Amino acid sequence: RLYNIAQDLKGIVRVYCRIRPILNTEAKNVVDFVGQDGSLVIVDPSKSRSDGRKVFQFNCVYGPTATQDELFKEVQPLIRSVIDGYNVCILAYGQTGSGKTNTMYGSSGVSEKEKGINFFAIKDLFQAADKRHDISYDVHVQMVEICNEQIQDLLTEYPASNGESSLPDVTLHSVKSNADAINLVKCGERNHKSKMNSLSSHSHSVIIIHVHGKDTSGNISHGCLHLIDLAASGEDDDKSLFCLEDVITSFSQKSASIHHRNSKISSLLQDALGGNAKVVVFAHVNPEGDNFTETVNTLKFAQKIS
Ligand code: ADP
Ligand code: MG
Repeated sequence: RLYNIAQDLKGIVRVYCRIRPILNTEAKNVVDFVGQDGSLVIVDPSKSRSDGRKVFQFNCVYGPTATQDELFKEVQPLIRSVIDGYNVCILAYGQTGSGKTNTMYGSSGVSEKEKGINFFAIKDLFQAADKRHDISYDVHVQMVEICNEQIQDLLTEYPASNGESSLPDVTLHSVKSNADAINLVKCGERNHKSKMNSLSSHSHSVIIIHVHGKDTSGNISHGCLHLIDLAASGEDDDKSLFCLEDVITSFSQKSASIHHRNSKISSLLQDALGGNAKVVVFAHVNPEGDNFTETVNTLKFAQKIS
């Protein structure tokens, strides 16, 4: 009963828009209107208010005052369905500086309420699994980054465990508790930041949480959660993001054939973006006027897949 909401959503891409606060107080705000029904109106700062208006529609639009917790609560039922054997994929999309990393990883070294979806999702998975006394769960974590079509394992220095994975070259790590999993992800995040440094806007980070369940009669389930902080949108040279956008579009249009083989990231996400997977895209918007074209492109893509 708890998971009915999630089951009703299978095969659908849910698209949410998040507008980050204005950081440069001198900047012109392009956001004109945010409706509770998920509508968003932006205005081209180089045009007049009436000529420059563009209207978009999403499942929901989160304005600058939205909390991390509010976002998480929205996707919590989906994430929980992973312990019932569903594949769930959460993607943060948007141009550089629009707030993707803040949504997924949160701000570092601060109170719990500023942590990101990764943290809340992992914590909630363990809590939900602990409550299911009829099922025992095995949880494994993998974490990679993809840059220029190269996959880099972010967790190679930690002891790997045996187990099945569709990524034979990526280490798999058994985790017994929420704390184990969070620690690994923190280490991977550190590696991601240090390796890529100035290039980090060109790389995707992917956390994969595998959840194997076994009930008292021996029935087994395998669900998978992918938590993805995408490379900045709008960089023309990024083949992998381009291919991924294609795959998400095909998936959202329920195309019979989806070409997962075209790039490293889309083949990596074959399970996450196929079949009955449940996909959530957070499209991020920088409300400051200087990158208006990119903002429009982000919103157009987000609307296309919703
Ligand atoms: P991206 O990963 O898309 O490049 P970041 O997540 O790094 O963007 O965000 C860019 C800047 O905006 C950072 O300084 C970040 O702390 C800030 N920021 C992003 N989203 C929020 C938010 N919801 N509230 C406050 N600050 C935010
Ligand atoms: Mg980032």
